[in-house]
Amino acid sequence: MDLASYADLVVELVNTGRPAEPERDSLRDLAALRELLTIRPHLSGRVTHTDLDAIRELRAELRKIFDAVAHGDEDGAVERLNSLLIQHPIHPQISGHDGQRWHLHISESGSVPDRYAAGAAMGLAIYISDHGIGRLRVCQAPSCANVFFDNTANRSRRHCAVHCSTTTSPQPGV
Ligand SMILES: [Zn+2]
Repeated sequence: MDLASYADLVVELVNTGRPAEPERDSLRDLAALRELLTIRPHLSGRVTHTDLDAIRELRAELRKIFDAVAHGDEDGAVERLNSLLIQHPIHPQISGHDGQRWHLHISESGSVPDRYAAGAAMGLAIYISDHGIGRLRVCQAPSCANVFFDNTANRSRRHCAVHCSTTTSPQPGV
């Protein structure tokens, strides 16, 4: 797994939630959690309801980081991320599975939520160090609260997806 792609764990998890519409939450049971984990073979393992609670708690913590940035509180966002990094230390291992060249895995031990948290927090820390914290965004479409990384050259992206940029926006031209 490419180190940069650990940051994707953050977006994939946070966007399972709908803060304003809990009934549309897509991470409500163990089947949904297993589904989220299937694309990450290194995160596979038995999961319990305790793990589900832990992952949902992690999701809330990660969202607060994006919300803090959206409200201009970069120091607060970094403080939250640093506390996640302390709570979920990484356990790096060099791995060469499936015919791939040797590459670094950064979270190889602990429970599934611990490994998810360690990978996500480190991925986000690497992303922020490389690209700047201002690229963490919350979609501005009404009724969407998805988070994303704005990787455009002029930092102009305001929506998580094309369909969100075409929904009626209270701010013309955004
Ligand atoms: Zn959106």
